[in-house]
Amino acid sequence: MIRHETLNPPPHIYPVEGWKIIERSFYPRFQAQTETIFSIGNGYLGLRGNFEEGAPLVQSGTFVNGFHETWPIIYGEQAFGFAKTGQTMLNLPEGKLIHLYVDDELFSLATAKLLLFERTLDMKAGTLDREVLWETPLGKQVLIESRRLVSYEYRHLAAISYQVTVLNADASVVISSQIRGNQTNQVSHGDPRQGPGFHERVLLPESHYVADNRVLLGYRTRSSGMTLGCGMEHIVDTLCPYTLQIECGEDRGEVIVSVDALAKKPIQLVKYFSYHTSAEATPDELCSRVERTLGRAVQQGFPKLLEGQRRFMDQFWDRCDVQVKGLASDSPRPRGEIQQALRWNLFQILQASGRAEGTGIPAKGLTGQTYQGHYFWDTEIYVLPFLIYTAPRVARNLLLFRHSMLEQARQRAREVNQKGALFPWRTINGEEASAYYAAGTAQYHINADIMYALKKYVEVTGDNSLLYNEGAEMLVETARLWADLGFYSERNGGKFCIHGVTGPDEYTTVVNNNTYTNLMARMNLKFAAETVATMRDAFPDHYEPLAYRTGLRPEEIDEWRQAADLMYIPFDERLGIHPQDDNFLDREVWDLKQTPRDKFPLLLYHHPLVIYRHQVIKQADIVLAMFLLGNEFSEEQKKRNFNYYDPLTTGDSSLSACIQSIIAAEVGQMEQAVKYSRYAVLMDLADIGGNVKDGCHIASMGGTWMTAVYGFGGMRDYGGKLSFDPRLPDRVQSLRFALEIRGQELEVVVNRDEAVYLLRKGKELTITHQGKEVKLVQGEAVALKVRLSKS
Ligand code: BGC
Repeated sequence: MIRHETLNPPPHIYPVEGWKIIERSFYPRFQAQTETIFSIGNGYLGLRGNFEEGAPLVQSGTFVNGFHETWPIIYGEQAFGFAKTGQTMLNLPEGKLIHLYVDDELFSLATAKLLLFERTLDMKAGTLDREVLWETPLGKQVLIESRRLVSYEYRHLAAISYQVTVLNADASVVISSQIRGNQTNQVSHGDPRQGPGFHERVLLPESHYVADNRVLLGYRTRSSGMTLGCGMEHIVDTLCPYTLQIECGEDRGEVIVSVDALAKKPIQLVKYFSYHTSAEATPDELCSRVERTLGRAVQQGFPKLLEGQRRFMDQFWDRCDVQVKGLASDSPRPRGEIQQALRWNLFQILQASGRAEGTGIPAKGLTGQTYQGHYFWDTEIYVLPFLIYTAPRVARNLLLFRHSMLEQARQRAREVNQKGALFPWRTINGEEASAYYAAGTAQYHINADIMYALKKYVEVTGDNSLLYNEGAEMLVETARLWADLGFYSERNGGKFCIHGVTGPDEYTTVVNNNTYTNLMARMNLKFAAETVATMRDAFPDHYEPLAYRTGLRPEEIDEWRQAADLMYIPFDERLGIHPQDDNFLDREVWDLKQTPRDKFPLLLYHHPLVIYRHQVIKQADIVLAMFLLGNEFSEEQKKRNFNYYDPLTTGDSSLSACIQSIIAAEVGQMEQAVKYSRYAVLMDLADIGGNVKDGCHIASMGGTWMTAVYGFGGMRDYGGKLSFDPRLPDRVQSLRFALEIRGQELEVVVNRDEAVYLLRKGKELTITHQGKEVKLVQGEAVALKVRLSKS
């Protein structure tokens, strides 16, 4: 169901521009959104788009992926095995601050007379730029140009070039650059997606000092014991006379540049600031690392840093850009709007994952604290497909990160009385952090989601080394969980049933035989059995240590095979559809047509019990299964399932629209497919859910890549075999994307009447185009006719 027919990104704020997001005036009304939209980050460090002046401010944000505080979850009523420890990614000392005084007047966007204001997120350069012309009460015109980046080359480093030029007079100018601790953390006011906040200070100052021109601050968290070192260093470049003063105290560092500014002579301050974090090192040790990072940055200089950033971005776009051309001119929306938003989505995934090494990807990336910086299945099911095909090294790191949490997953399985391992529904440090088990821990499907991503990664990259080492260990433990969780039901003809679980749709919880879960568990069990059997037969050198590490019994492989073979998959013969679970179809249908628009998302306006007793769906569930395991459904089943479930789906989760779009395209409902994909692509730039101020929806952003490649490109990759059945919507002239498969590079261009496949790098690749096998060799483009869609 589409609830918002008209999608209106405020075009006067973000005029359409292929590679940029531009804001031409300062709109206080949209400030909360723009703090997210103009976020920059590299997957390790993220800075919200707050102004250098520190005000006006809605929510400041400086985040290091995985840097968190822990706190005891307090339940009104306890029960055995409930998650015990909450985890919150913290807002770190603010290093973006630069205050400007001209003739002792403080520059403030809220009150200044602005002759010009323009902010640009430059997605090719990887920078956030701002140009402001301020007329002081004395009539002096002050041009302020800033450029901000979080480096991809040096992941601990951010930098701001801040240049002030008084255009029409001499003036006394003071620039005060600061780093300030004791920042606030987000507090929920009834929204369950936000954390409870803290009643006391949790990031405690431990040291502060000045070394040469550097200011350093060291911290330790109150409970998790994590440590932080951060600091800043400046380079001033100007022909005007100036003095420089450095101050440092607990929680604050300040560098004050006092200048006798001469008319038209620029004063450039380059600020380098850096964050290092650890679970072991002392704050002082981390401060030394910060010093080294700053030293290197200063030695390189800002222009070199910019060059490195651009090089990185060029490579990113070369691998990852998706080009959509030619929305017809009768469209009421501006041309290029989708292209711009799609690129921004891909850019945001990069910002959330590019240098995420040894961590996961938080649901909001590093753009906000909603969902407390937790890692969910969002990464494996929604973001990894993009990364596997465009940045396999990053995908590998993310899978290794899951493996690094296997011990806690084993422990968690014990806590919920099961064998094997159960990965947490949401976490930062590997422990389950979901305080609401019905829509949290009960989502056992997370295990299979991770194994699904592993399978896809191995099929696409051929990386058997990861499979036979870390992968196999995760397979053994996840398969064990399923074998132990389910049982052979006499009442169900001896079939293997899995009861008391929650599927992806969180509006129906703790059910028996959720079809998605059973299908994915079957995939997990089979994959584990096949992998381990292959290792036993062909790679004993890998098998022996695995068997030793996991205490594998040889008969377990057959147990997994049997459970998979006898897996119960619910099917309703009368309706010809797969019930979402055993009881779903018995429930009363929620009247979505009569539900006022302002009562969505339902979870904010209804007691869970009311929602649970209805047929109403938060997000794609069966429909997601039909995408991930599409070769296990007939065409007829896909159509019937989609027709049944689509009208019940609220899309209250941002993870829904992209998947609904892909399947709508597959079952020939192109109009619906286009609507859903617009919804997904514009979700954050147009602030469709009204909550972009809290951060980007990274899963949906990954989903928008999937709507382009799988939805309209018609790609499927079951068992590692690539097939294409392109279906361009009427108003699109061409779609172009690139994929990396086992080190080879495939470029796909879909035009209205043909698809062109070009193996840019690699020797040979076999694909299927609309049912026909095609052999591709390097450098020779193959153009093939495309059946057109009807809409
Ligand atoms: C969705 C989950 C998702 C989480 C984080 C929830 O609203 O229902 O599927 O993992 O958001 O994005």
